[in-house]
Amino acid sequence: MNPNSITTEADRCVKCGLCLPQCPTYKLTQDEGDSPRGRISLIQAVMTDQIPEPHTRFHLDRCLVCRACETACPSGVRYGFLIDAIRQKSRQGLLTGLANAAVASLPYRRITRSLLNIYLKPPLRRILRWLGGKTVRRLDSLLPNAISTERLVSRTTAPDQPRGRVALFTGCVTGLLERQTLAAAIQVLEHCHYEVIIPENQGCCGAIHGHSGNPDKAHKLGDNNLNAFNPLSVEAIITCASGCGAQLQEYGLHGLDLQHPVMDISEFLLKSADIGANVLGKLDKSVLVHTPCTMKNVMKSEHAVAGLLKKIPGLQLEALALTDCCGSAGSYMLTQPVIADQLREPAIEILRAKRPDILVTSNTGCAMHLRAGIVQASLPIEVCHPVELIARQLKIANSP
Ligand code: SF4
Ligand code: SF4
Repeated sequence: MNPNSITTEADRCVKCGLCLPQCPTYKLTQDEGDSPRGRISLIQAVMTDQIPEPHTRFHLDRCLVCRACETACPSGVRYGFLIDAIRQKSRQGLLTGLANAAVASLPYRRITRSLLNIYLKPPLRRILRWLGGKTVRRLDSLLPNAISTERLVSRTTAPDQPRGRVALFTGCVTGLLERQTLAAAIQVLEHCHYEVIIPENQGCCGAIHGHSGNPDKAHKLGDNNLNAFNPLSVEAIITCASGCGAQLQEYGLHGLDLQHPVMDISEFLLKSADIGANVLGKLDKSVLVHTPCTMKNVMKSEHAVAGLLKKIPGLQLEALALTDCCGSAGSYMLTQPVIADQLREPAIEILRAKRPDILVTSNTGCAMHLRAGIVQASLPIEVCHPVELIARQLKIANSP
């Protein structure tokens, strides 16, 4: 990273403070060091050698990279660029380093899914949770009760009267833990007469690496995805996790030329697939819609989920009125567990008061973090991806 580009970007901040009311960590701690303006000042101090970098790490590590501050900034400061760039200067913690290495490779191995399913069986899970330390228990709280080992396959033949062809980005954690979401996306896309291509050589998007100070690895992973997707003849790359979608959409900022538009599955289905309410079965349930920061602040698709789910007859739909990040933020829920849980609490309070049947969210990390909070609060609320609801209602509508 060119130091001049960091300084130039940081110097665009006029210190007006308009971003402060948008910043979840500042609102929580009321500490200027935990605000976007304060963090930019710290970045400037590091770049001009006024403060040694390790002295700033406490506040910089507490940033969620939710980028809510960017939406309020009249100077258009690219805060996301700054925080990723300065983290490159920091030494990675052991947990972050291990998490980075693990997500890039383990989720793509079949053996990982099999071993995880063995772990998830009650006796072993209970024993290891009891024997394991705080970190094991934290990781365990984010896992579902079972994972699908279903193989995700592209159609070998195009559907009758194909409407078009899309590629599906599976993602590392989504492919491992929320495979049913990907299966639902394939089912709905095929129902809408799209041919779905799932390149086997695709890999992790690199977001976790880029946000935790490892841009070289993020770039390498990005390059791998260019090789997997660029040769395809598709109209869009579809993502089911907005954290991955946001990263893929911004590959260009990192010098990676992805040659197809990237769209969130809900937005694609709403805009292109033309699902009519007449093909969806009635669902008499209440649903709260959580909008992940990456969906709102980067992909700018915050209205897509409600627009799509409105097509299900009978659904009582409401937005989860959360002003801030839920605290998941990639590996943040592991590296900053105290703040992550404090930020989740308003969501749990709303859920406790409203008691919906289902909470939908479009990002895998948010689903894991919110689900863990819901389990901890003993609330009988299902957490799923919006496309899973669409797939279920298609099945009901089509059953004899
Ligand atoms: S990215 Fe989010 S947490 Fe970080 S400074 Fe901006 S608003 Fe605050
Ligand atoms: S709103 Fe923009 S210019 Fe103002 S303090 Fe925040 S980052 Fe700086």
